[in-house]
Amino acid sequence: MSTFQAPKGTYDLTPPRSAMFLAVREAISAPLRDSGYGYIETPGFENVELFARGVGESTDIVTKEMYTLTTKGGDQLALRPEGTASVLRAALEANLHKAGNLPVKLWYSGSYYRYERPQAGRYRHFSQVGAEAIGTEDPALDAELIILADQAYRSLGLRQFRILLNSLGDKECRPVYRETLQTFLRDLDLDEETRRRIEINPLRVLDDKRADVQKQLTDAPKLRDYLCDACQAYHEEVRALLTAAGVAFEDDEKLVRGLDYYTRTTFEFVHDGLGSQSAVGGGGRYDGLSEMIGGPELPSVGWALGVDRTVLALEAEGVELDLPATTSVYAVPLGEEARRVLFGVVTELRRAGIAADFAFGGRGLKGAMKSANRSGARYTLVAGERDLAEGVVQLKDMESGEQSAVPLAEAAAELAKRLG
Ligand code: AMP
Repeated sequence: MSTFQAPKGTYDLTPPRSAMFLAVREAISAPLRDSGYGYIETPGFENVELFARGVGESTDIVTKEMYTLTTKGGDQLALRPEGTASVLRAALEANLHKAGNLPVKLWYSGSYYRYERPQAGRYRHFSQVGAEAIGTEDPALDAELIILADQAYRSLGLRQFRILLNSLGDKECRPVYRETLQTFLRDLDLDEETRRRIEINPLRVLDDKRADVQKQLTDAPKLRDYLCDACQAYHEEVRALLTAAGVAFEDDEKLVRGLDYYTRTTFEFVHDGLGSQSAVGGGGRYDGLSEMIGGPELPSVGWALGVDRTVLALEAEGVELDLPATTSVYAVPLGEEARRVLFGVVTELRRAGIAADFAFGGRGLKGAMKSANRSGARYTLVAGERDLAEGVVQLKDMESGEQSAVPLAEAAAELAKRLG
């Protein structure tokens, strides 16, 4: 292992590609911020019990993929594998649900950790932007979240994504279906681990990716046929609102998702250019989660979109994000005196809100101009001894190549004018 290698299953974000990650986070959060969602930040780790109770003891995330640790003080902690349980915990702790303003709408952005088998698009450390709407049961809220995610992806220029939609029923109808499904599954030819899963979380067997398992599931009872009237009506309303908003979706009755807490609406955003790790985001309604972690009844809905996979999806589609150059003006001093003077101009520009950079390290003109080019700056300021003696700097327009002498005292104002 090389000394400089990031841990297995992780990678660093470095310039220039790192700019895409910032742009993706910004694009996903912008529609949320414009829709009444407030920013929330929670710790990178929680008591392990929160995830065991919240995410579910039968899920791969909790049984196999959680990074757990015991502190010197004896606390059992886990690096957060997902955001929802933490956000709900924090909202309950701060009593946000008691402020008389439901739903509590929150968005977040951060790092998540899962001990997975690394492959393309699947990492042990990854980044999500998420949204949660806590405390209200209203199909328009489910629809809102799906529409905002669709809007975010579209604003980035993504087109080859699809929305898969399903309803998992509620505490009335799901248990009936669960039992019917278990009876069906017990008769199939399945391995030991899958047999255990039938008893703990039978819906997840439907999610099995193996062809020999899928073949046996063709005649499995369908949840859709077991939804109670209330769940059916709720789901139809979500579908109607999405259709009215012009957001296309596909009904996918096999969509159960890997977390235990979902009820009713579940959805996933998949991208067809990503191979096996095709889910770029997902979410759903989790009406029972608050009670599972010891809180009051708070029906809620949310989603998390993966930043890493969204960047991969953009690259797969060949979308070039319109990332403006970060530097507008690049200053190239020739000589000691010019260094002092131009450094002063750069400081003045920055204070005036103009992005400026400087050729540090006393390089020659050629090397410095190369850096100026690479910076993407629209203008370069060059000054040598003779310029200073005349009280001017050379202002070069990097697009047209035109160069003119500008009085030193007016350089900052002139640049401000030209850059609008
Ligand atoms: P989940 O909580 O599993 O539904 O994840 C939501 C989104 O986070 C997924 O659609 C992915 O985009 C992203 N994600 C989840 N796990 C990983 C991972 N191991 N590596 C990269 N992205 C991930």
